[in-house]
Amino acid sequence: MSSFHSQYKDELIANATYIGSPGKGILAADESTGTIGKRFASIGVDNVEANRRILRELLFTAPGALECLSGVILFEETLYQKTASGKPFVDVLKEAGVLPGIKVDKGTIELPGTNGETTTQGLDDLGQRCKKYYESGARFAKWRAVLKIGQTEPSQLSIHENAYGLARYAAICQENGLVPIVEPEILVDGSHDIAKCAYVTEIVLAACYKALSDHHVLLEGTLLKPNMVTPGSESAKVAPEVIAEHTVRALLRTVPAAVPAIVFLSGGQSEEEATVNLNAMNKLKGKKPWSLTFSYGRALQQSTLKAWGGKDENIPKAQATLLTRCKANSQATLGTYKGDANLEGATESLHVKDYKY
Ligand code: 13P
Repeated sequence: MSSFHSQYKDELIANATYIGSPGKGILAADESTGTIGKRFASIGVDNVEANRRILRELLFTAPGALECLSGVILFEETLYQKTASGKPFVDVLKEAGVLPGIKVDKGTIELPGTNGETTTQGLDDLGQRCKKYYESGARFAKWRAVLKIGQTEPSQLSIHENAYGLARYAAICQENGLVPIVEPEILVDGSHDIAKCAYVTEIVLAACYKALSDHHVLLEGTLLKPNMVTPGSESAKVAPEVIAEHTVRALLRTVPAAVPAIVFLSGGQSEEEATVNLNAMNKLKGKKPWSLTFSYGRALQQSTLKAWGGKDENIPKAQATLLTRCKANSQATLGTYKGDANLEGATESLHVKDYKY
């Protein structure tokens, strides 16, 4: 790490640490235009800029919700949008002490000769884009790499390619003042058991930290966004305490203590599952050198989206729904969630096979 030079060093460390503040986490609202279109289709809303802006305003101005958040991940379009009264979303977030983040990957593409494994695109002009996003107020970034569990997957090629892609992305972000969220998502799809998921998670994370080291990335100025260690989507479920134990053990074996926070993705878990699993990890006794928090997309927005249904008159109800989930997850970061946000719809599985963000 001694060879790391960046004028942003102190700022990167401060921002990464801030995102992991106890009681706070990240709202992932960075659905690409295609992905948000799928969400809108499920509630009968047209996928046009005006509706995307209304949804994001609903989320960012929900009374009380931002107090539970330290960061929000935006899609490029949203970084430049404003509230109906003309205030840039970036300013709404900053004034509430919430760091604006930006999704910088350009989606996945298949690796030829593999069984549908992928690598993530977007490195070519990444430096210029990061510079521009920093100037527009973004302070952290997200890049999602996707791996899958199968008979022979993840292959060595996919593990290597995705680890070095994430590391190169992280180095470019840090050169330009953005804290990189390193996201190697191992999909839940499959009939494997939790032990297999733990094994694959350890191998993938070990490869990622080797690559980050090779690329001279300042770990204190990064965040990790992993999957939780769970059985596959076609296997029987296990208790939150079992998920907590397997997840924390896999992380202890592979994630350096220099990393300030681990911000989990929800990966198709129901809203309630994502909350109780995070809560169980924070209740778990023993060594945990990083803070463990949330960076949920589907598990923070699903019931809010349904409550809204594209109708102005439903906005207050939808915002109250978001607050319920934000509070529950804030408590889960402290291990104090009591199960009182388990409302209608919150236990619905959000799993979509071979999910594209
Ligand atoms: P989910 O919580 O919906 O898995 O999404 C989080 C995310 O940002 C995936 O890249």
